[in-house]
Amino acid sequence: MQSQYDVIILGGGLAGLTLSIQLKRMDPAISILVLERRDSGASTAAHKVGESTVELGSHYLREVLGLKAYLEEFELPKHGLRFFFASDNKDDIATRVELGPRERLPTPSHQLDRGTLENFLAKRTQELGTELILGATVKDVNIAEGNHTVTFLKEGEEVKIFCKWAADATGRGSFMKRKLDFHKPMEHHVNAVWWRLKGVIDIDDWSDNAEWKSYLKPGLRYLSTVHFMDKGYWLWVIPLGSKNTSIGIVADPAVHPFDTFNKYEKAIEWLKVNEPRGYKMLEPQKDNLLDFKILKHYAHHTGRIYCAEERWGVTGEAGAFLDPLYSPGTDFIAMNNSWLSDLIVRDLHGENVEARANVYEQSHLSLVDNWIPVYQNKYLLMGNTQIMVMKIFWDWATYWAVPTLLFTNKAFTNLSLLKELFSNSRGLGRRFGELNRVMQDLFIDWAPYETERFSDRYIDPYDLQYMRDFQHDIDTSYEPDALIEKVGQNMKILEQVASDIFRLVSTQVNGTPPNMKVDPYKIKLIAGSTVLAVETELDENISESVKNDVDLMWFYPKPVFA
Ligand SMILES: Cc1cc2nc3c(=O)[nH]c(=O)nc-3n(C[C@H](O)[C@H](O)[C@H](O)COP(=O)(O)OP(=O)(O)OC[C@H]3O[C@@H](n4cnc5c(N)ncnc54)[C@H](O)[C@@H]3O)c2cc1C
Repeated sequence: MQSQYDVIILGGGLAGLTLSIQLKRMDPAISILVLERRDSGASTAAHKVGESTVELGSHYLREVLGLKAYLEEFELPKHGLRFFFASDNKDDIATRVELGPRERLPTPSHQLDRGTLENFLAKRTQELGTELILGATVKDVNIAEGNHTVTFLKEGEEVKIFCKWAADATGRGSFMKRKLDFHKPMEHHVNAVWWRLKGVIDIDDWSDNAEWKSYLKPGLRYLSTVHFMDKGYWLWVIPLGSKNTSIGIVADPAVHPFDTFNKYEKAIEWLKVNEPRGYKMLEPQKDNLLDFKILKHYAHHTGRIYCAEERWGVTGEAGAFLDPLYSPGTDFIAMNNSWLSDLIVRDLHGENVEARANVYEQSHLSLVDNWIPVYQNKYLLMGNTQIMVMKIFWDWATYWAVPTLLFTNKAFTNLSLLKELFSNSRGLGRRFGELNRVMQDLFIDWAPYETERFSDRYIDPYDLQYMRDFQHDIDTSYEPDALIEKVGQNMKILEQVASDIFRLVSTQVNGTPPNMKVDPYKIKLIAGSTVLAVETELDENISESVKNDVDLMWFYPKPVFA
């Protein structure tokens, strides 16, 4: 151990270890020390949550960190997110509406055994020259504009060490947030419990219905992140490469009070009431229990992320965390680490990064703020199948079409692109945030009028042309100008999707003409109104293909054009 490092990373979990690898890949000469409280290797399976990855986070692990070979050899390939919706017959999984991909997806993602992964990341970063000390609990960081003193405890001894940059990756410990008091309220209150079971659980075995089994090739359902959903909750089943299984319940306390499932025995009883098929399949395995964890009010925000003047930053759950629906935790780590490592490397190479750090911090915080409406109050809609189908497709489409494409094209660290996207009020980034907000409100306003229970349907996001196009495009490289043009084209498609969804909903609720003209940014469902509930503008670029795609998501009879 040296007495001085360029960077000290507090906490060697997913965020801290990946940050160290990213920094070393950008500049192998940077000296890095990672201090991790845990005093031995991570246990297999029963380690942490954060097991399911989606496209942005997978791209980060595979391409940015160069972990493709490891992921393909030691972790499972993932077959997308899969949803089973509310049903009057939850005993029979085969009759529930199911949403998920049938065929193998073009853009890869993975199911991660977090223990196996963190042990590998620790080894990898040390091979790259990072020093990692286990059993080291950080007690204090004295910020001194580029010559910070980090104090930690190792085997009862207090050790002091110096660094230019301090990166807080202490997870929910949120070391810097507590020390510098930049906590910010987050109005999204949901609770979670999870447990790992020894052995493989394959959802395909939950029914004998041969037709249902035949919807997908054998083994593919098993590789999905499976969500069973109904009002106020979702239950996850995730396969792990160590041949174990992760199970979790995530629920809004307004519908499912935490004390109804916050102990293992209670969680099993909760399954009996809410997910009877799951109960029948999981209860007999109770002796295979590896762990049981709980987390109340997991969502939290942050007021600060990057401070270039004082040379510190936070990453991972030490900053903000929103919600595990759609598995975005690793995505946020990817964006966060990419911003932070860019600042650190530029600064160590002598560049003044203060203005850049402000732009990154504002971009990061507004990204979190724009993402909040995706989850806030949405657990109350989880029993409405038609709304959730529209919402899940909408959320995926927006995620692939804009932030994922920007990330894979390194736009988040390109200042002129960020300026073009976010600096003026009609810039694409601002419009994207606005459009998403309007749609998230529509889903809520629609809920009182959407009460039908559906069954016996399978819906595949890749039956929709625009969804396929967005997914296929994720790994396409664009020059900056072409990227802006592409995001602009994607926004046009999203605007039309929004308008087409609204036309269907408004026709159903208010009997408005199915071909009415809609300004997507002014969408507002005012129930009971027999006049058009929106100011309208002529939409010249109606694409029949997008309209047909939106019709595919609509379970009710199609409104007839009068
Ligand atoms: C219910 C739930 C489900 C989730 N599911 C998913 C999912 O499917 N996919 C996904 O991508 N994300 C998921 N997430 C998010 C994911 O868990 C986090 O994004 C990720 O684990 C955060 O990693 P981290 O490194 O920031 O924190 P951690 O993994 O918690 O690492 C922090 C590290 O810091 C160490 N530490 C803490 N304090 C100190 C100290 N004082 N000194 C030294 N070391 C210290 C700890 O020992 C720990 O190893 C989920 C989150 C929740 C709550």
